[in-house]
Amino acid sequence: MEHTPITYRLSNNGTSAASYYGAVAEFTDLVLARAQSTLVPEARKFHRFVIAYDLEDPRSIEEYTYELLNLGVLWRAYGDIASSVRVAPFHLMANLGEWRKTHQRLKPVIDVFRGVLLSVFLLPKTVRRVSESEIGISELGRLVTWLEATGDFREDAFRYVRWLGYLGLETSERVTSFMETLVTFAAWFETESANRMGTFTPNVEAFLDERSSYYRWREDRFSCLRSRAEYHLNMVGAEIMNRAYRHDFVSCEKKTVLAPGCMRARPAETCEGVKTADGIRCSGCESSCHVNQLREIGLRHGADVVVIPHSTDLARWSAQPGAPAHGVVGVACLSVLVEGGWELRRNNVPAQCILLNECGCRKHWDDAGFPTSLDVRQLKTVLS
Ligand code: SF4
Repeated sequence: MEHTPITYRLSNNGTSAASYYGAVAEFTDLVLARAQSTLVPEARKFHRFVIAYDLEDPRSIEEYTYELLNLGVLWRAYGDIASSVRVAPFHLMANLGEWRKTHQRLKPVIDVFRGVLLSVFLLPKTVRRVSESEIGISELGRLVTWLEATGDFREDAFRYVRWLGYLGLETSERVTSFMETLVTFAAWFETESANRMGTFTPNVEAFLDERSSYYRWREDRFSCLRSRAEYHLNMVGAEIMNRAYRHDFVSCEKKTVLAPGCMRARPAETCEGVKTADGIRCSGCESSCHVNQLREIGLRHGADVVVIPHSTDLARWSAQPGAPAHGVVGVACLSVLVEGGWELRRNNVPAQCILLNECGCRKHWDDAGFPTSLDVRQLKTVLS
């Protein structure tokens, strides 16, 4: 069977992505330096707002800066669409996104239903362009509601509800100028990230051209049909998260690597892993299996390895009273990695993320499917 275009690849040989990790660190430094005079002052103000109103354990200025960059890129990608939706069962759709995680057996049925609702309600036939000078609190509110209803941007929506509270205290002129700053920065990011990180995402546009109609009624359409800028955005997001949570992760006594099922050499039906409450524990039935390799690395570094299904509820990894702190390494493809990292952060789990070298599971990306991989040197560095 012929393979569909693989949207991103961190390496050409599937084993080493060393050049990617150097490139993303350098590009993230550039983004943060460029944000110093534009996004960072706003991130600092928001940091003070979070403390003043006791909204959450305050996070780093870099994380809030990333949230601003993320909002600018999301507005450019979806702002017009979200503003054009007039009526939709937003609440039901947001709940369905939650139920599919907590009711794994009902997930196939829920996903069919979600796929139809997403296409019918969240993608209006007529999309009106909203100019930057028109963006106000109500347009931003529409975007946040829309993001939550997709189910794929749930963690973004959680964060931007707080930003809406922050902006709700400002004048409409200030909100418009705030958004103009974000959108201008996001436009710079889109161009610059294509120059700096585009070598790792050569096939995104070919994939979108070839496959968009295939996802028309599918629940994973927003997850799989991301723009190239969103891929680069998630690269920077993963890097910023890893920097922010490194210290807490290293301090944890217990560590677990959460691997996706698509890394297995065998399909789920013939994988001899043992099902447990935490996930599937590899029994080493196939020596060349990438999960088996992770298991062996884990044994040498004192880390547990389990395979978990896509869209698992990650709250189960949050610290239990009296139990030692538990650090988690989340392994995923670019379209879901940052959302997973944010979910772990929301549940106070010290986490590190590692990108799959490419996306290739049969369920979402490739008709034939192939075992995905990660950069083992990066995993060893993270666990060291
Ligand atoms: S080696 Fe482990 S993860 Fe891979 S197929 Fe066998 S039991 Fe499953």
